[in-house]
Amino acid sequence: MTRREPTTNAELMSREGVPPLPVSAPAMPFQDAARLSLGDTQLRFNMGKATTTIRAKRYKVVDEMPDWQNLREAGRAIKDRTLRHLDKYLLQLEESVTRVGGKVHWAADAEDANRIVADIVKSHGANEVVKIKSLTTDEIGLNEALAHQGIKAYETDLAELIIQLADERSSHILVPAIHKSRAEIREIFRRTLENTENLSDEPRELAAAARAHLRRKFLTVPVAVSGVNFGVADTGTVCIVESEGNGRMCLTLPKVLISVMGIEKLVPSWRDLEVFLQLLPRSSTAERMNPYTSFWTGIAPPGDGPDEFHLILLDDGRSKVLADRHGRQALQCIRCSACLNICPVYERTGGHAYNSVYPGPIGAILTPQLVGVENAGSLPYASSLCGACYEVCPVKINIPEVLLHLRGEVVRHKQATLTGRLSAENVAMQTVARVFASPRRYEAAQKAGRLGQKLMVKGGVIERLPGQLGGWTAVRDVYPIAPQTFREWWKQREKVAKTKPAPRQEPRP
Ligand code: SF4
Repeated sequence: MTRREPTTNAELMSREGVPPLPVSAPAMPFQDAARLSLGDTQLRFNMGKATTTIRAKRYKVVDEMPDWQNLREAGRAIKDRTLRHLDKYLLQLEESVTRVGGKVHWAADAEDANRIVADIVKSHGANEVVKIKSLTTDEIGLNEALAHQGIKAYETDLAELIIQLADERSSHILVPAIHKSRAEIREIFRRTLENTENLSDEPRELAAAARAHLRRKFLTVPVAVSGVNFGVADTGTVCIVESEGNGRMCLTLPKVLISVMGIEKLVPSWRDLEVFLQLLPRSSTAERMNPYTSFWTGIAPPGDGPDEFHLILLDDGRSKVLADRHGRQALQCIRCSACLNICPVYERTGGHAYNSVYPGPIGAILTPQLVGVENAGSLPYASSLCGACYEVCPVKINIPEVLLHLRGEVVRHKQATLTGRLSAENVAMQTVARVFASPRRYEAAQKAGRLGQKLMVKGGVIERLPGQLGGWTAVRDVYPIAPQTFREWWKQREKVAKTKPAPRQEPRP
């Protein structure tokens, strides 16, 4: 049987001469994309099942740690300190990596980073790379950019491979194919891999088919590309955590290794890893210890790993995020995905509705900051603000706080334009703000509302509000304004007290 190569967007773009797009702003408002996802019952079933299972496992392994809250606090404090002195630690990392034989490149944006990777690959006469799952390279659209230069990237993580073969986008930061059932994966493999016509949907068989496909690539492709979980400033060590061993293959077999690291993935010292390597596996895959944790410090002795190591330090909007006093805590994220698995919105809509490499609660606060709130559609509103994400976050990122801050930014951005200032929503909000700012106006509005609601109250509730307010009552009833407010009751009580004669003082016995 002949092997059918996957046809990806990248290949098509390359063929059509379309320049590669870095991963960018959502194309469709979240609420519209979410409505589409909610109509997909298979997707909702797959998501519900997967997130419920991961959540239950996580609770169990986190519960057995008596010092979990202290670990969270330590993780938060280390990340906070790192971000405060990021300039100093980045220079220290560059010095350390150079000292042990690696080469450091600075990339201001996605275009820079993609160009640096392509130049290194071409300088070795290669036209293929093997890749370890990496959100950072997804963020910069590396696969598409390489395809545009005639370089084919092979994803080696099983879930990433499934997504690549299906020509889809990832829907979870840790389990990119979380929305796929085993039967769907079998169909993708049958369609795209050789010798798979009798493949069943047993996990062991599916994994074996992927392994057979990937083993050939590990042994023949000369360049590997990875992301970075942690870069250690004082030793120049780079760390990757993964579960399948594909990363270990990429880090040891190819002759050239290129690691793309977001500048926030830094920790000051080797000892700091102790905290994160406890927090990360329990929060992400609900494991006590991560199955494959690889460290590399510069280049290996000849014949024992890559002869050449390149570290690309990527900014791509992170400096801008760092400058935001409220929003910068998003850079503390260690990409564990616990906030996705707990989020009631993500569980129902899945990751594609976010239309971003970073879905779920972390995506709702990181993407708008990276691409600008003006380009992020309604992502800051993709949350019920229940706070569950904050409770599970291993580095204590206050996601609801950042969401509210970003919603404020969205409003301020709209108010900066004339149409935004004159919009019905803005006019209504400004009026409400004026009413709330004055007790006299507030009381007058209550009285007017009490009169106005008379025709709308049925059975003690208002089932439908007029005009744009109808959106609020489309899914819930509203209680009417009470016949008497607390302040009115208090005033009445004082009046009665004044008219009553003072109680007679009885003489003491
Ligand atoms: S925001 Fe927190 S919970 Fe969510 S992925 Fe990042 S570290 Fe994990």
